[in-house]
Amino acid sequence: MTEKVQSPADRIKTLVQMIKASDLYPVNPIVNSATTEPVIWVDGRDHLLFCSNNLLGLSNHPDVKEAAAKALDRYGLGSGGSRQMAANIDVHRALELRIAEHLGREDAICYTTGYMANVGTVPALIMVDLLQAIAASLLGKSDLVPPESEGSSWEVFSEQLNHASLVDGVRLARADVSKFPHKDTARLKKQLEASDKPSKFVVSDGVFSMDGDIAPIPEIARLAKKHNAMLMIDDAHGVGMLGENGRGSLEHLGVSTSDVDLQMGTFTKAFGGVGGYVAGDRDLIDFLRISARSYIFSAPLPPSIAAGVAEAIDVAEKEPWRREKAMENAFYFRREVESLGYDTLGSEAHIVPALIGNELKAAEVTKMLRHRGIVAPHARYPAVAPGMARIRFVMTCQHEREQIDYLLKCLAEVREQDA
Ligand code: PMP
Repeated sequence: MTEKVQSPADRIKTLVQMIKASDLYPVNPIVNSATTEPVIWVDGRDHLLFCSNNLLGLSNHPDVKEAAAKALDRYGLGSGGSRQMAANIDVHRALELRIAEHLGREDAICYTTGYMANVGTVPALIMVDLLQAIAASLLGKSDLVPPESEGSSWEVFSEQLNHASLVDGVRLARADVSKFPHKDTARLKKQLEASDKPSKFVVSDGVFSMDGDIAPIPEIARLAKKHNAMLMIDDAHGVGMLGENGRGSLEHLGVSTSDVDLQMGTFTKAFGGVGGYVAGDRDLIDFLRISARSYIFSAPLPPSIAAGVAEAIDVAEKEPWRREKAMENAFYFRREVESLGYDTLGSEAHIVPALIGNELKAAEVTKMLRHRGIVAPHARYPAVAPGMARIRFVMTCQHEREQIDYLLKCLAEVREQDA
């Protein structure tokens, strides 16, 4: 008797049903209000939200909303195509120049999301050999032809805890890849020394998204320079939040922009909107415009968002109290949650994880908090290593001390219940 083989669709359905029957399937509440406020409306009552990325409260700032509304009125809803075709609109270019100015860089390129910035940028840079060959053939310049090499001439050195979008960008790049352990610059040094590839590229997050700690960028930059490697830092969480002028991890750690070729970021977090960007020297940025597939073959930001985000950068610069308050909140919460016995995994910024460990246990803690009117989902494998599940709290400038104290009281109860 032949055994009936499950169709691929049935296999998937069986698996999903099994996951759904456990506590592992993520059940995110449907929110009936703006998720950019610390108090949200879920299941017919108020809840406190501790995972919003509206870090500086700019998503709902009146000037930001007005700038977006004006642009909506002027340009309409969408962009009408890609930047390479119809939709190279003045507000897109103004936003690129504005973020470049904020970071003290020559230029920047905007993508529709930060994810698209990373999956577009890393493989694009590695296409330099191909574009060199194309340019040589079109322009008749034999001195541009890259040396014949078997396979890729590139090796990418990627931090173990880099964000998924950077990981995917590295996967898409046709290059050898060496992963270096979290913050392990001694290992990175050895890997760079051992590499025989003529083109090297180091990529790291600035602030790590699941742990809230900060990369040792000065040493990474020193090693990259010594080994003639290109360096890109994903500072999605750092820009707007860290440094005297909110320029991010580089400013916070005293690293010169000239030591980091490309600074990537997102408008989704500190600037309260949506969109990604990469900033650096103009020719590097212009190279991305002709090689990054997620830029070329996709629609750009809606003009209203581009205008709103440019205004949000202005407000962030004018009102440093916003990042100072977010950081004060984070400092207070981290100190207090640690005193309850939670491990915060070396957090140094506004992202403060509380380690739970077991995945099912973390799901249970999320539920217990939900019963107490708190929305703070857990992060678990594959977003973090197996057995390292955690509740990932994000502190913003909109949280008040009493709200944080209520969260701490609930976390103390949860811990007691577990003891
Ligand atoms: N890089 C990092 C470090 C991130 O945390 C994120 C978003 N969580 C991204 C990139 C992607 O940004 P976006 O949400 O704009 O796609």
